[in-house]
Amino acid sequence: MASGRRRALVTGGAGFIGSHLCERLVREGYRVLCMDNLRTGSFENVAHLTAEPAFEYVDHDVTTYIRIAGELDEVYHLASPASPADFERIPIPILKVGAIGTYNALGLALAKGSRFLLASTSEVYGDPLVHPQREDYWGNVNPIGVRGVYDEAKRYAESITMAYHRHHRIDTRIVRIFNTYGPRMRPDDGRMVPNFIRQALAGEPLTIYGEGDQTRSIQYVDDLIEGIFRLMQSAETRPVNVGNPSEHTVREVAGMVLELSGSKSGAVHLPLPVDDPKQRCPDISRAREVLGWEPKVAAREGLERTLRWYRSRSRS
Ligand code: NAD
Ligand code: UDP
Repeated sequence: MASGRRRALVTGGAGFIGSHLCERLVREGYRVLCMDNLRTGSFENVAHLTAEPAFEYVDHDVTTYIRIAGELDEVYHLASPASPADFERIPIPILKVGAIGTYNALGLALAKGSRFLLASTSEVYGDPLVHPQREDYWGNVNPIGVRGVYDEAKRYAESITMAYHRHHRIDTRIVRIFNTYGPRMRPDDGRMVPNFIRQALAGEPLTIYGEGDQTRSIQYVDDLIEGIFRLMQSAETRPVNVGNPSEHTVREVAGMVLELSGSKSGAVHLPLPVDDPKQRCPDISRAREVLGWEPKVAAREGLERTLRWYRSRSRS
């Protein structure tokens, strides 16, 4: 056992972002405990890490009490489904993991004296009336809409994190993640980038919801992991937006995927989901200032890398 090294727990560690974070922490010399119940993640995402003595996988649902033996320096709480396609499919597990799961993860951090990082989301801004979104914007969320289960669970998660910070003096971090994509997103995840890539590679028309003039600012996963890593090392306890401020319409993203993949499959328009935010773009002044962070990977480059991964995966 590699003792003397820092030890971190990553909940949701077998998911898309969690698996990249586990990889980074192992590379940084941490002992990593990856906890997941595989509801939307896959063991395949971390299978390559199991050969590392510093890596351990624990199958556990964080909505039930979390028991861990030994010291724990850091908790990265990422467990939660994140695709809008899941908001109607599994609304109650989403509410439970955001509320009870976060409560359990904070309880563990309190018991172990660990630093705690919450993976929050740009969804706390809802369908924003302020653009771009700064961290001091309180948002525009429909609490009873279908997206509300995710948005409100994350808003509650932020609230209980700050309560533990103030009341129990836990050392906490909150990262507000904006749309992130890259290798290991499930092709059937339902989100924009994996949908478009899967469809382009299968020669199927890309499904643009609505007119496609709603905007998103898409961030490559490596940039996010760098931001999360820096935030955990920093002293910043306020929420920090981590996203790529270069904003694209959904139609533009579809166009880029078609062009980069060489697919001739075109696009079809489907109805816009209820409460789909019209625009989304982070103001990253705080991340620049306190973390010295900004994204490095432009959309075309990131989409190209992601396409390469999906292609190599379909060959294997
Ligand atoms: P993902 O679905 O790939 O990963 C989430 C992981 O959490 C999965 O492995 C899933 O099995 C696990 N999980 C869910 N419920 C659990 C439970 N009760 N107990 C244990 N594990 C559980 O999604 P992702 O995109 O990697 O998202 C990771 C985190 O980042 C989530 O908290 C999400 O809300 C947040 N986030 C992601 C994005 C994005 O664009 N990808 C944007 C904003 C916020
Ligand atoms: N979208 C789309 N086609 C798809 C999937 C998503 O047009 O096949 C749109 C969706 O309506 C939204 C944007 O792409 O406006 C981003 O959706 P995603 O599911 O990636 O995440 P969101 O930002 O809505 O949480």
